[in-house]
Amino acid sequence: MAKKSDHNHCSFCGRTEKQAGALLAGLDAFICEECVESAYEILQEEKIHNSKESFLGKNLPLPTPSEIKNFLDQYVIGQDEAKRTLSVAVYNHYKRINHHNKNYREIELDKSNVIIVGETGTGKTLLAQTIAKLLHVPFAIVDATVLTEAGYVGEDVESILSRLLQAADYNVPAAERGIVFIDEIDKIARKSDNPSITRDVSGEGVQQALLKLLEGTVVNVPPYGGRKHPEQRMIVIDTKNILFIAGGAFSGIDKKIAARLRTNMLGFSVSGYKKSYDKDNMLQYVQPQDLRSYGLIPEIVGRMPIITHLDPLDKQALLRILTEPKNALIKQYEYLFKIDGIELEIREGVLEFIVDKAIEYKLGARGLRSIMETIMTDAMFDLPSRKNKKKFTITLDYAKEKIGRFDISSLSA
Ligand code: ADP
Repeated sequence: MAKKSDHNHCSFCGRTEKQAGALLAGLDAFICEECVESAYEILQEEKIHNSKESFLGKNLPLPTPSEIKNFLDQYVIGQDEAKRTLSVAVYNHYKRINHHNKNYREIELDKSNVIIVGETGTGKTLLAQTIAKLLHVPFAIVDATVLTEAGYVGEDVESILSRLLQAADYNVPAAERGIVFIDEIDKIARKSDNPSITRDVSGEGVQQALLKLLEGTVVNVPPYGGRKHPEQRMIVIDTKNILFIAGGAFSGIDKKIAARLRTNMLGFSVSGYKKSYDKDNMLQYVQPQDLRSYGLIPEIVGRMPIITHLDPLDKQALLRILTEPKNALIKQYEYLFKIDGIELEIREGVLEFIVDKAIEYKLGARGLRSIMETIMTDAMFDLPSRKNKKKFTITLDYAKEKIGRFDISSLSA
């Protein structure tokens, strides 16, 4: 066993006993509490990772919809309806892959591509990302706004698959079971009801090109993205088993939904109309026909048969986002300080203040991080060099002072 002395240090992070607290002695080495914890987490992750590998290829059970939802609950606040819908869609998708050709050969299970409608910053990407993390399948995020019809300035639709291939480390079978999140699908909506007047290279043309990928086709993909050219080596990818999740804010769709519900945003009192609707959250009533009237072509809507919505995030939800998810912002800052041996204390009122600012400047959940950074930067700069500082307290006055010196409106997009 290693001998105790004043100069002992953790053999993993190098900190001394003074900095790291008690050290456990091994045969020939020491380890501090924090390194024990990180090692434990790494081993746990490794276990999950291994189980996912086998789930994809072999016999391990696919997580059930409620297990998928429980996992999502650890990272995403609220959005229950979307979590349930997505959990079922993902479960059915992978069930379809795993059981293909085994039983009921004559029944071909349809693909369950999903569209999520929700304001920006409410968790669309986070949901898709978290599902990919649980299943350990390759995951790519693509922005629909950069896609154009082949031959025009912008990216070909196949570039989506190049990204997925990169995420899969060029493992083609893995990529062929991956998940693609297409962000801002609403931005490729048809611009006018009459597509024949002018070429709509970034709208309907892209939707037509996407259609093939969504329904399942074999595509020649340039491995490193960019435009196809004749001498380039191509990788063949079958998109049949790739799950596509599309997200969009569909700004203004609430009015189309309201119109369909034969009502208006002010009163909902059209004569003879009995049912009352929650006018602050019209997205919950979204139907395929609303997406069509927004400008998605019927074939695309047909190929993405599962539609779900995200709720707007209110003050309570933003407060929870700061503290509750597994990698909540506050937990991340606490950890950052803890590495330097400093305890972070956040006094009453500070979190409410941060959330109020995010709401006031319409920054949403995404803005919470920028506001936190503004408050924390000076401390994160100074404290690591103040060796005897063991605790850092953020009071409401401190937070106000830091924010006051900063033009927060510059954070709005
Ligand atoms: P979008 O809906 O625009 O795709 P994102 O999923 O990218 O939004 O959300 C941006 C960030 O805001 C996320 O990385 C996460 O930190 C936070 N966030 C948004 N919604 C939630 C939520 N429901 N629960 C937890 N964090 C959220």
